[in-house]
Amino acid sequence: PAIPCPGEMFGSARRNSSGCDLSDPTVLNPLLRRLADLEAKRWTAGEGSGARHAITAPFDHRIIVGEAVEATAAELDAMLRRAHAAQGAWDALGGEARARLLDRTADLFEAHREDFYSLCIREAGKTLPDAILEVREAVDFLRYYAAEGRRLFSHAHRLPGPTGETNELRLHGRGVWACISPWNFPLAIFTGPVAAALAAGNAAIAKPAEQTPLIGALAIALMHEAGIPQDVVGLAVGDGKVGAALTAHPLIAGVAFTGSTAVARAINRSLAERDGPIVPLIAETGGQNAMIVDSSALPEQVTRDVVASAFQSAGQRCSALRVLFVQEDVADTMVTMIRGAMEALTIGDPRLPTTDVGPVIDAEAKASLDAHVAELRAAGRVVAERALPAEAGQGSFVAPVIAELPDLSALSDEHFGPVLHVIRWKAGELGKVIDQVNATGFGLTLGLQSRIDTVHAEVQAKARVGNLYVNRNQIGAVVESQPFGGEGLSGTGPKAGGPHYVARFATERVKCVDT
Ligand code: GLU
Repeated sequence: PAIPCPGEMFGSARRNSSGCDLSDPTVLNPLLRRLADLEAKRWTAGEGSGARHAITAPFDHRIIVGEAVEATAAELDAMLRRAHAAQGAWDALGGEARARLLDRTADLFEAHREDFYSLCIREAGKTLPDAILEVREAVDFLRYYAAEGRRLFSHAHRLPGPTGETNELRLHGRGVWACISPWNFPLAIFTGPVAAALAAGNAAIAKPAEQTPLIGALAIALMHEAGIPQDVVGLAVGDGKVGAALTAHPLIAGVAFTGSTAVARAINRSLAERDGPIVPLIAETGGQNAMIVDSSALPEQVTRDVVASAFQSAGQRCSALRVLFVQEDVADTMVTMIRGAMEALTIGDPRLPTTDVGPVIDAEAKASLDAHVAELRAAGRVVAERALPAEAGQGSFVAPVIAELPDLSALSDEHFGPVLHVIRWKAGELGKVIDQVNATGFGLTLGLQSRIDTVHAEVQAKARVGNLYVNRNQIGAVVESQPFGGEGLSGTGPKAGGPHYVARFATERVKCVDT
Protein backbone atom coordinates (compact mmCIF):
# COMPACT_ATOMS: atom_id res chain seq x y z
CA PRO A 1 0.00 0.00 0.00
CA ALA A 2 1.02 3.58 -0.55
CA ILE A 3 2.18 5.48 2.52
CA PRO A 4 0.14 8.51 3.52
CA CYS A 5 1.60 11.92 2.84
CA PRO A 6 3.11 13.15 6.11
CA GLY A 7 1.17 16.42 5.87
CA GLU A 8 2.10 19.16 8.29
CA MET A 9 3.49 17.02 11.05
CA PHE A 10 6.08 14.31 10.99
CA GLY A 11 6.06 11.85 13.80
CA SER A 12 4.66 8.76 15.36
CA ALA A 13 3.10 7.48 18.54
CA ARG A 14 6.50 6.07 19.55
CA ARG A 15 7.82 7.47 22.82
CA ASN A 16 11.41 8.30 23.68
CA SER A 17 13.10 6.63 26.65
CA SER A 18 12.57 8.00 30.12
CA GLY A 19 15.15 9.29 32.59
CA CYS A 20 15.51 8.89 36.31
CA ASP A 21 15.36 11.26 39.28
CA LEU A 22 18.86 11.63 40.67
CA SER A 23 17.60 13.85 43.50
CA ASP A 24 15.88 10.76 44.94
CA PRO A 25 18.38 8.93 47.20
CA THR A 26 16.59 5.61 46.65
CA VAL A 27 17.48 6.00 42.97
CA LEU A 28 20.90 7.62 43.29
CA ASN A 29 22.50 5.56 46.07
CA PRO A 30 22.05 2.07 44.56
CA LEU A 31 23.22 3.45 41.23
CA LEU A 32 26.38 4.89 42.79
CA ARG A 33 27.08 1.56 44.55
CA ARG A 34 26.70 -0.30 41.25
CA LEU A 35 29.01 2.19 39.49
CA ALA A 36 31.58 1.79 42.27
CA ASP A 37 31.47 -2.02 41.75
CA LEU A 38 31.93 -1.58 38.01
CA GLU A 39 35.16 0.38 38.55
CA ALA A 40 37.01 -2.90 38.92
CA LYS A 41 35.91 -4.05 35.47
CA ARG A 42 38.47 -3.96 32.61
CA TRP A 43 37.06 -3.65 29.11
CA THR A 44 38.49 -4.57 25.71
CA ALA A 45 37.73 -3.22 22.24
CA GLY A 46 38.81 -5.12 19.18
CA GLU A 47 40.37 -8.49 18.74
CA GLY A 48 43.08 -9.79 16.51
CA SER A 49 46.73 -9.13 16.06
CA GLY A 50 46.96 -5.33 15.82
CA ALA A 51 48.72 -2.88 18.11
CA ARG A 52 47.37 -2.72 21.66
CA HIS A 53 47.16 0.25 23.91
CA ALA A 54 45.64 1.15 27.24
CA ILE A 55 42.62 3.45 27.49
CA THR A 56 42.92 5.73 30.51
CA ALA A 57 40.36 7.87 32.31
CA PRO A 58 40.37 11.54 31.24
CA PHE A 59 39.93 12.63 34.87
CA ASP A 60 42.93 10.61 36.09
CA HIS A 61 45.29 9.15 33.52
CA ARG A 62 46.67 6.67 36.08
CA ILE A 63 43.36 4.77 35.87
CA ILE A 64 43.27 2.15 33.14
CA VAL A 65 39.72 1.53 31.92
CA GLY A 66 40.58 -1.10 29.34
CA GLU A 67 42.55 -1.99 26.28
CA ALA A 68 42.09 -1.21 22.58
CA VAL A 69 43.30 -3.62 19.91
CA GLU A 70 43.73 -1.86 16.58
CA ALA A 71 42.37 -3.54 13.44
CA THR A 72 45.17 -4.42 11.01
CA ALA A 73 44.78 -3.66 7.30
CA ALA A 74 44.22 -7.36 6.56
CA GLU A 75 41.60 -7.69 9.31
CA LEU A 76 39.81 -4.59 8.08
CA ASP A 77 39.77 -5.91 4.54
CA ALA A 78 38.41 -9.30 5.68
CA MET A 79 35.72 -7.56 7.77
CA LEU A 80 34.63 -5.48 4.77
CA ARG A 81 34.48 -8.53 2.50
CA ARG A 82 32.33 -10.41 5.00
CA ALA A 83 30.04 -7.39 5.40
CA HIS A 84 29.75 -7.01 1.65
CA ALA A 85 28.84 -10.69 1.26
CA ALA A 86 26.26 -10.52 4.07
CA GLN A 87 24.53 -7.30 3.00
CA GLY A 88 22.24 -8.75 0.32
CA ALA A 89 20.53 -11.17 2.70
CA TRP A 90 20.18 -8.41 5.31
CA ASP A 91 18.54 -6.14 2.73
CA ALA A 92 16.23 -8.95 1.65
CA LEU A 93 15.12 -9.48 5.25
CA GLY A 94 12.93 -6.38 4.94
CA GLY A 95 12.26 -3.30 7.05
CA GLU A 96 10.07 -4.98 9.67
CA ALA A 97 12.45 -7.82 10.56
CA ARG A 98 15.41 -5.46 10.74
CA ALA A 99 13.43 -3.04 12.91
CA ARG A 100 12.63 -5.82 15.38
CA LEU A 101 16.36 -6.53 15.79
CA LEU A 102 17.09 -2.82 16.33
CA ASP A 103 14.30 -2.62 18.92
CA ARG A 104 15.79 -5.66 20.64
CA THR A 105 19.18 -3.92 20.63
CA ALA A 106 17.55 -0.90 22.31
CA ASP A 107 16.16 -3.20 25.02
CA LEU A 108 19.64 -4.66 25.57
CA PHE A 109 21.19 -1.18 25.75
CA GLU A 110 18.68 -0.35 28.49
CA ALA A 111 19.41 -3.61 30.30
CA HIS A 112 23.13 -2.73 30.21
CA ARG A 113 22.64 0.95 30.99
CA GLU A 114 24.86 0.84 34.09
CA ASP A 115 27.77 -0.62 32.10
CA PHE A 116 27.35 2.23 29.63
CA TYR A 117 27.11 4.86 32.40
CA SER A 118 30.29 3.48 33.92
CA LEU A 119 32.09 3.58 30.57
CA CYS A 120 30.78 7.04 29.63
CA ILE A 121 32.09 8.36 32.95
CA ARG A 122 35.40 6.48 33.01
CA GLU A 123 36.34 6.30 29.34
CA ALA A 124 34.84 9.61 28.12
CA GLY A 125 34.90 11.66 31.36
CA LYS A 126 31.14 12.37 31.28
CA THR A 127 29.21 13.41 34.35
CA LEU A 128 26.50 11.01 35.53
CA PRO A 129 23.59 13.14 34.19
CA ASP A 130 25.36 13.38 30.82
CA ALA A 131 26.00 9.62 30.83
CA ILE A 132 22.30 8.98 31.44
CA LEU A 133 21.33 11.35 28.60
CA GLU A 134 23.82 9.62 26.34
CA VAL A 135 22.30 6.16 26.84
CA ARG A 136 18.79 7.54 26.42
CA GLU A 137 19.72 9.21 23.15
CA ALA A 138 21.31 6.02 21.79
CA VAL A 139 18.20 4.03 22.71
CA ASP A 140 16.00 6.68 21.10
CA PHE A 141 18.05 6.58 17.90
CA LEU A 142 17.69 2.79 17.74
CA ARG A 143 13.92 2.82 18.24
CA TYR A 144 13.29 5.85 16.05
CA TYR A 145 15.33 4.55 13.13
CA ALA A 146 13.68 1.14 13.58
CA ALA A 147 10.32 2.90 13.23
CA GLU A 148 11.62 4.80 10.20
CA GLY A 149 12.78 1.50 8.72
CA ARG A 150 9.29 0.10 9.12
CA ARG A 151 7.76 3.25 7.61
CA LEU A 152 10.00 3.38 4.57
CA PHE A 153 11.33 -0.11 3.87
CA SER A 154 8.50 -2.52 4.60
CA HIS A 155 6.63 -2.03 1.35
CA ALA A 156 6.66 -0.52 -2.09
CA HIS A 157 5.62 3.09 -2.40
CA ARG A 158 3.00 3.46 -5.13
CA LEU A 159 3.51 6.32 -7.56
CA PRO A 160 1.02 7.93 -9.94
CA GLY A 161 0.50 6.13 -13.26
CA PRO A 162 -1.47 8.61 -15.36
CA THR A 163 -0.75 6.84 -18.64
CA GLY A 164 -1.86 3.43 -17.49
CA GLU A 165 1.36 1.94 -16.09
CA THR A 166 1.89 0.76 -12.54
CA ASN A 167 4.77 2.62 -10.96
CA GLU A 168 6.37 1.77 -7.67
CA LEU A 169 9.40 2.87 -5.73
CA ARG A 170 11.30 0.74 -3.27
CA LEU A 171 14.17 1.65 -1.00
CA HIS A 172 17.15 -0.67 -0.59
CA GLY A 173 20.46 -0.72 1.19
CA ARG A 174 23.37 0.60 -0.86
CA GLY A 175 25.98 -1.85 0.48
CA VAL A 176 28.46 -1.37 3.31
CA TRP A 177 28.53 1.97 5.12
CA ALA A 178 31.53 3.24 7.05
CA CYS A 179 30.26 4.98 10.19
CA ILE A 180 32.96 7.11 11.80
CA SER A 181 32.00 8.68 15.09
CA PRO A 182 33.42 11.14 17.64
CA TRP A 183 34.43 10.77 21.28
CA ASN A 184 32.03 13.45 22.57
CA PHE A 185 28.98 11.22 22.05
CA PRO A 186 30.73 7.86 22.15
CA LEU A 187 27.48 5.90 22.41
CA ALA A 188 24.71 8.07 20.92
CA ILE A 189 26.53 9.28 17.80
CA PHE A 190 28.34 5.94 17.49
CA THR A 191 24.98 4.13 17.47
CA GLY A 192 22.81 6.54 15.47
CA PRO A 193 24.44 6.26 12.03
CA VAL A 194 24.97 2.50 12.43
CA ALA A 195 21.31 2.02 13.36
CA ALA A 196 20.19 4.11 10.39
CA ALA A 197 22.46 2.23 7.98
CA LEU A 198 21.17 -1.11 9.28
CA ALA A 199 17.52 0.00 9.25
CA ALA A 200 17.98 0.88 5.59
CA GLY A 201 19.26 -2.58 4.66
CA ASN A 202 22.97 -1.86 4.67
CA ALA A 203 25.84 -3.58 6.39
CA ALA A 204 27.95 -1.22 8.51
CA ILE A 205 31.50 -1.01 9.78
CA ALA A 206 31.63 1.29 12.79
CA LYS A 207 34.81 3.11 13.66
CA PRO A 208 34.66 4.59 17.15
CA ALA A 209 36.89 7.52 18.06
CA GLU A 210 40.33 6.36 19.10
CA GLN A 211 39.72 7.83 22.57
CA THR A 212 36.48 5.87 23.19
CA PRO A 213 36.55 2.42 21.55
CA LEU A 214 35.41 0.52 24.66
CA ILE A 215 31.90 2.00 24.60
CA GLY A 216 31.61 1.26 20.89
CA ALA A 217 32.76 -2.32 21.41
CA LEU A 218 30.04 -2.94 24.00
CA ALA A 219 27.43 -1.40 21.67
CA ILE A 220 28.44 -3.71 18.80
CA ALA A 221 28.52 -6.76 21.10
CA LEU A 222 24.94 -6.00 22.16
CA MET A 223 23.84 -5.59 18.52
CA HIS A 224 25.19 -9.09 17.87
CA GLU A 225 23.55 -10.43 21.02
CA ALA A 226 20.25 -8.97 19.81
CA GLY A 227 20.53 -11.12 16.67
CA ILE A 228 22.00 -8.75 14.09
CA PRO A 229 24.36 -11.06 12.17
CA GLN A 230 28.06 -10.81 13.10
CA ASP A 231 29.08 -10.06 9.53
CA VAL A 232 26.45 -7.36 9.01
CA VAL A 233 27.88 -5.01 11.59
CA GLY A 234 31.57 -4.84 12.51
CA LEU A 235 33.87 -2.76 14.70
CA ALA A 236 37.02 -1.15 13.31
CA VAL A 237 39.18 -0.04 16.23
CA GLY A 238 41.94 2.44 15.55
CA ASP A 239 43.00 5.99 14.86
CA GLY A 240 42.62 8.22 11.80
CA LYS A 241 44.73 5.86 9.68
CA VAL A 242 42.16 3.09 10.19
CA GLY A 243 39.40 5.56 9.31
CA ALA A 244 41.27 6.55 6.14
CA ALA A 245 41.79 2.88 5.17
CA LEU A 246 38.09 2.27 5.72
CA THR A 247 36.90 5.16 3.56
CA ALA A 248 39.43 4.28 0.84
CA HIS A 249 38.28 0.66 0.61
CA PRO A 250 36.68 -0.25 -2.72
CA LEU A 251 33.78 -2.08 -1.04
CA ILE A 252 32.53 0.97 0.88
CA ALA A 253 29.19 2.24 -0.47
CA GLY A 254 28.66 5.22 1.83
CA VAL A 255 30.36 7.17 4.62
CA ALA A 256 28.64 8.71 7.64
CA PHE A 257 31.09 10.89 9.51
CA THR A 258 30.77 13.07 12.59
CA GLY A 259 33.80 15.13 13.61
CA SER A 260 35.79 18.10 12.44
CA THR A 261 35.13 20.04 9.25
CA ALA A 262 38.76 19.46 8.20
CA VAL A 263 38.46 15.68 8.40
CA ALA A 264 35.10 15.75 6.60
CA ARG A 265 36.78 17.64 3.78
CA ALA A 266 39.65 15.14 3.65
CA ILE A 267 37.16 12.26 3.44
CA ASN A 268 35.20 14.06 0.74
CA ARG A 269 38.40 14.56 -1.27
CA SER A 270 39.46 10.95 -0.93
CA LEU A 271 35.98 9.73 -1.96
CA ALA A 272 36.08 12.01 -5.00
CA GLU A 273 39.44 10.65 -6.10
CA ARG A 274 38.60 6.94 -5.89
CA ASP A 275 37.71 4.83 -8.87
CA GLY A 276 34.54 2.81 -8.92
CA PRO A 277 31.06 3.78 -7.75
CA ILE A 278 30.35 7.30 -6.53
CA VAL A 279 30.12 7.14 -2.77
CA PRO A 280 27.86 9.51 -0.78
CA LEU A 281 29.07 11.26 2.35
CA ILE A 282 26.90 12.33 5.27
CA ALA A 283 28.94 14.71 7.43
CA GLU A 284 28.06 16.32 10.75
CA THR A 285 30.83 18.73 11.63
CA GLY A 286 31.63 21.71 13.84
CA GLY A 287 30.06 25.02 14.74
CA GLN A 288 30.82 28.52 15.96
CA ASN A 289 27.53 28.69 17.82
CA ALA A 290 26.18 31.99 19.05
CA MET A 291 23.41 33.12 21.35
CA ILE A 292 21.85 36.54 20.76
CA VAL A 293 20.48 38.29 23.83
CA ASP A 294 18.54 41.54 23.61
CA SER A 295 17.45 43.91 26.36
CA SER A 296 13.99 42.34 26.64
CA ALA A 297 15.40 38.97 27.74
CA LEU A 298 14.91 37.68 31.28
CA PRO A 299 18.32 37.84 33.01
CA GLU A 300 17.77 34.77 35.23
CA GLN A 301 16.74 32.69 32.26
CA VAL A 302 19.65 33.91 30.17
CA THR A 303 22.03 33.04 33.01
CA ARG A 304 20.72 29.50 33.39
CA ASP A 305 20.63 28.83 29.67
CA VAL A 306 24.06 30.33 28.94
CA VAL A 307 25.71 28.31 31.71
CA ALA A 308 24.10 25.08 30.48
CA SER A 309 24.87 25.82 26.82
CA ALA A 310 28.50 26.84 27.36
CA PHE A 311 29.68 24.70 30.26
CA GLN A 312 27.59 21.51 30.44
CA SER A 313 29.62 18.55 29.14
CA ALA A 314 32.66 20.84 29.66
CA GLY A 315 31.58 22.62 26.47
CA GLN A 316 32.35 19.50 24.43
CA ARG A 317 29.22 19.43 22.32
CA CYS A 318 29.02 20.52 18.70
CA SER A 319 25.90 22.38 19.75
CA ALA A 320 27.59 24.23 22.64
CA LEU A 321 27.50 28.01 22.94
CA ARG A 322 30.79 29.67 22.01
CA VAL A 323 29.84 33.32 21.41
CA LEU A 324 27.32 35.26 23.44
CA PHE A 325 26.13 38.41 21.67
CA VAL A 326 24.57 40.55 24.38
CA GLN A 327 22.94 43.92 23.85
CA GLU A 328 25.12 46.66 25.33
CA ASP A 329 22.43 48.14 27.64
CA VAL A 330 22.12 44.88 29.61
CA ALA A 331 25.60 43.44 29.10
CA ASP A 332 27.07 44.36 32.50
CA THR A 333 24.13 42.84 34.36
CA MET A 334 24.13 39.69 32.24
CA VAL A 335 27.89 39.13 32.44
CA THR A 336 27.87 39.66 36.21
CA MET A 337 25.07 37.14 36.67
CA ILE A 338 26.61 34.57 34.33
CA ARG A 339 29.94 34.98 36.08
CA GLY A 340 28.24 34.38 39.45
CA ALA A 341 26.60 31.20 38.15
CA MET A 342 29.90 30.04 36.68
CA GLU A 343 31.56 30.55 40.09
CA ALA A 344 28.99 28.16 41.59
CA LEU A 345 29.80 25.24 39.26
CA THR A 346 31.51 22.22 40.77
CA ILE A 347 34.50 21.18 38.69
CA GLY A 348 36.17 17.83 39.18
CA ASP A 349 35.82 14.07 39.30
CA PRO A 350 32.87 13.01 37.12
CA ARG A 351 32.33 9.95 39.32
CA LEU A 352 30.90 12.26 41.98
CA PRO A 353 27.22 13.03 41.37
CA THR A 354 27.73 16.64 42.48
CA THR A 355 30.15 17.41 39.64
CA ASP A 356 28.89 19.86 37.02
CA VAL A 357 32.00 20.14 34.85
CA GLY A 358 34.27 17.15 34.32
CA PRO A 359 37.48 16.85 32.33
CA VAL A 360 38.04 17.45 28.64
CA ILE A 361 38.76 14.34 26.64
CA ASP A 362 42.57 14.18 26.62
CA ALA A 363 45.86 15.99 27.08
CA GLU A 364 45.85 17.20 23.47
CA ALA A 365 42.43 18.84 23.86
CA LYS A 366 43.56 20.41 27.12
CA ALA A 367 46.76 21.77 25.55
CA SER A 368 44.87 23.37 22.68
CA LEU A 369 42.27 24.96 24.99
CA ASP A 370 44.95 26.11 27.44
CA ALA A 371 46.82 27.78 24.57
CA HIS A 372 43.66 29.61 23.48
CA VAL A 373 42.93 30.79 27.02
CA ALA A 374 46.56 31.91 27.42
CA GLU A 375 46.19 34.03 24.27
CA LEU A 376 42.96 35.56 25.58
CA ARG A 377 44.66 36.26 28.91
CA ALA A 378 47.67 37.86 27.24
CA ALA A 379 45.36 40.10 25.22
CA GLY A 380 43.61 41.17 28.44
CA ARG A 381 40.29 39.65 27.31
CA VAL A 382 39.55 37.27 30.17
CA VAL A 383 36.87 38.62 32.50
CA ALA A 384 36.35 35.57 34.71
CA GLU A 385 38.15 32.29 35.14
CA ARG A 386 37.71 29.42 37.56
CA ALA A 387 40.61 27.80 39.36
CA LEU A 388 41.12 24.07 38.96
CA PRO A 389 40.64 21.77 41.96
CA ALA A 390 43.76 20.21 43.48
CA GLU A 391 43.13 16.69 42.11
CA ALA A 392 42.87 18.04 38.56
CA GLY A 393 46.59 17.54 38.01
CA GLN A 394 46.13 13.83 37.29
CA GLY A 395 43.63 14.46 34.52
CA SER A 396 42.84 16.73 31.57
CA PHE A 397 40.85 19.53 33.13
CA VAL A 398 40.14 22.98 31.76
CA ALA A 399 38.40 25.43 34.09
CA PRO A 400 35.46 27.44 32.71
CA VAL A 401 36.44 30.85 31.36
CA ILE A 402 34.56 33.95 30.18
CA ALA A 403 36.36 36.34 27.80
CA GLU A 404 35.17 39.49 26.03
CA LEU A 405 35.94 40.10 22.36
CA PRO A 406 35.40 43.24 20.26
CA ASP A 407 33.87 41.25 17.40
CA LEU A 408 33.77 37.80 15.89
CA SER A 409 36.75 38.35 13.59
CA ALA A 410 38.98 37.75 16.63
CA LEU A 411 37.78 34.13 16.73
CA SER A 412 38.60 31.99 13.73
CA ASP A 413 38.49 28.44 15.11
CA GLU A 414 36.01 26.44 17.10
CA HIS A 415 37.38 25.95 20.63
CA PHE A 416 35.83 22.73 21.83
CA GLY A 417 35.67 23.29 25.58
CA PRO A 418 34.30 25.43 28.42
CA VAL A 419 35.33 28.83 27.04
CA LEU A 420 32.60 31.43 26.58
CA HIS A 421 33.31 34.49 24.43
CA VAL A 422 31.14 37.58 24.92
CA ILE A 423 30.56 40.33 22.34
CA ARG A 424 28.45 43.44 23.02
CA TRP A 425 26.11 44.85 20.38
CA LYS A 426 24.30 48.14 20.06
CA ALA A 427 20.52 48.56 19.98
CA GLY A 428 19.31 48.69 16.38
CA GLU A 429 22.16 46.52 15.07
CA LEU A 430 20.54 43.09 15.24
CA GLY A 431 20.96 42.71 11.48
CA LYS A 432 24.72 43.21 11.81
CA VAL A 433 24.89 40.58 14.55
CA ILE A 434 23.10 38.04 12.37
CA ASP A 435 25.42 38.92 9.49
CA GLN A 436 28.46 38.24 11.71
CA VAL A 437 27.04 34.87 12.73
CA ASN A 438 26.30 33.93 9.12
CA ALA A 439 29.73 35.14 8.02
CA THR A 440 31.44 32.43 10.08
CA GLY A 441 30.24 29.98 7.43
CA PHE A 442 29.16 27.55 10.16
CA GLY A 443 25.46 26.98 10.69
CA LEU A 444 24.76 24.59 13.52
CA THR A 445 22.96 25.99 16.58
CA LEU A 446 21.87 29.50 17.46
CA GLY A 447 20.30 30.63 20.72
CA LEU A 448 18.01 33.64 20.93
CA GLN A 449 16.81 35.26 24.15
CA SER A 450 14.21 37.91 23.50
CA ARG A 451 10.57 38.57 24.30
CA ILE A 452 9.93 40.53 21.11
CA ASP A 453 8.09 38.64 18.37
CA THR A 454 9.54 40.71 15.54
CA VAL A 455 13.05 39.88 16.77
CA HIS A 456 12.19 36.16 16.69
CA ALA A 457 10.89 36.56 13.16
CA GLU A 458 13.94 38.51 11.95
CA VAL A 459 16.42 36.02 13.38
CA GLN A 460 14.48 33.05 12.03
CA ALA A 461 14.26 34.62 8.59
CA LYS A 462 17.93 35.58 8.30
CA ALA A 463 20.03 33.15 10.33
CA ARG A 464 21.46 30.27 8.31
CA VAL A 465 21.55 27.69 11.07
CA GLY A 466 20.23 24.16 11.45
CA ASN A 467 18.85 24.49 14.99
CA LEU A 468 17.48 27.74 16.43
CA TYR A 469 16.58 27.66 20.12
CA VAL A 470 14.46 30.52 21.48
CA ASN A 471 14.39 31.39 25.20
CA ARG A 472 16.02 28.13 26.27
CA ASN A 473 19.44 26.52 26.18
CA GLN A 474 20.80 25.36 22.84
CA ILE A 475 22.07 21.86 23.63
CA GLY A 476 20.54 18.43 24.00
CA ALA A 477 18.50 18.03 20.82
CA VAL A 478 15.89 15.32 21.36
CA VAL A 479 15.52 12.51 18.80
CA GLU A 480 12.50 13.04 16.53
CA SER A 481 11.46 16.27 18.33
CA GLN A 482 14.52 18.37 17.46
CA PRO A 483 16.27 16.74 14.50
CA PHE A 484 19.88 17.86 14.76
CA GLY A 485 22.44 19.06 12.23
CA GLY A 486 23.71 22.12 10.45
CA GLU A 487 24.56 23.62 7.12
CA GLY A 488 27.57 25.20 5.46
CA LEU A 489 30.77 24.35 7.32
CA SER A 490 28.66 22.47 9.88
CA GLY A 491 27.69 19.58 7.66
CA THR A 492 25.80 18.13 4.76
CA GLY A 493 22.59 17.02 6.45
CA PRO A 494 20.28 15.14 6.70
CA LYS A 495 19.49 15.86 10.31
CA ALA A 496 20.18 13.13 12.84
CA GLY A 497 16.99 12.02 14.55
CA GLY A 498 14.88 13.53 11.77
CA PRO A 499 12.44 12.21 9.17
CA HIS A 500 14.87 12.39 6.23
CA TYR A 501 17.82 10.66 7.87
CA VAL A 502 17.32 6.94 7.26
CA ALA A 503 16.31 7.37 3.62
CA ARG A 504 19.70 8.98 2.87
CA PHE A 505 21.40 5.66 3.63
CA ALA A 506 19.32 3.95 0.93
CA THR A 507 19.22 3.71 -2.80
CA GLU A 508 15.89 4.12 -4.62
CA ARG A 509 14.65 1.70 -7.27
CA VAL A 510 11.61 2.26 -9.42
CA LYS A 511 9.67 -0.46 -11.24
CA CYS A 512 7.31 0.54 -14.00
CA VAL A 513 4.93 -2.08 -15.44
CA ASP A 514 2.89 -1.39 -18.53
CA THR A 515 -0.62 -2.61 -17.73
N1 GLU B 1 23.02 16.56 19.49
C1 GLU B 1 23.86 17.14 20.49
C2 GLU B 1 23.18 18.27 21.18
O1 GLU B 1 22.15 18.69 20.72
C3 GLU B 1 25.20 17.58 19.99
C4 GLU B 1 25.83 16.61 19.06
C5 GLU B 1 27.30 16.83 18.89
O2 GLU B 1 27.98 17.38 19.75
O3 GLU B 1 27.80 16.33 17.87
O4 GLU B 1 23.67 18.76 22.16
